[in-house]
Amino acid sequence: MSDRYQKKTTAYSSDDTGSSCRTADDSFPAHSSGRRTPDGRMTGGKKPDRFSRTAKALLVLIVIGIAGKAFLAFFPFGADISRLENVSVPGWIDVQIIEIDGASRRGENLSRLSDIVIHYVGNPGSTAQQNRDYFNSPESSVSSHFVVGLEGEIIQCIPLNEISSASNDRNRDTISIEVCHPDESGKFTDASYRSLIRLAAWLCDIGGLHSDDIIRHYDITGKLCPLYYVEHEDAWHQLKSDVARSM
Ligand SMILES: [Zn+2]
Repeated sequence: MSDRYQKKTTAYSSDDTGSSCRTADDSFPAHSSGRRTPDGRMTGGKKPDRFSRTAKALLVLIVIGIAGKAFLAFFPFGADISRLENVSVPGWIDVQIIEIDGASRRGENLSRLSDIVIHYVGNPGSTAQQNRDYFNSPESSVSSHFVVGLEGEIIQCIPLNEISSASNDRNRDTISIEVCHPDESGKFTDASYRSLIRLAAWLCDIGGLHSDDIIRHYDITGKLCPLYYVEHEDAWHQLKSDVARSM
């Protein structure tokens, strides 16, 4: 067990420092050459103008998008978060909040809640309790709000209105769930899966979110997490529709 934990420490420290967001290729589609209109004029000559106007409009939209995202990240929306602060946690969640240490738990409030991020622990066979205790140990600088164990047990480690240290630059506006797994494939057990669906549906409900607001760590940084549900896109879509059905 201690060997495994040694491995885990290494995995976390190398994984979570490098946020490598990959943006989509923003090159423009190739245009065909000019066409002749019914009255015989060539339209090709006008294309550079239209193209340049389109490019400018696209640029403006991109700038607005970036500015909007920055605004939402830096200006807190109190109503959402105060609602989370006052939620009573159901009995099927074992609440074991970790100590504030400035790293794993910074004690800072979420700025808002936009998404639920699913992770796998990346340490086959480890239990929810072991992962929670690791988050609480001095050598850890990572955490998640919840850990779902191999038997379907759920441990809460971070208060709902605070940030965790799991999802890189999306820690400020997301709630994170780490899920244990028995082997290297990263596939969740049936018991873990059922608990994850129940937990995610509950979080969507209290946070006013939709099942489309459930994302993978992979969707943020391109990291292969949760591994099985990155390698099996169909299983990921199934997971989201199972959450939608449970809401
Ligand atoms: Zn992850």
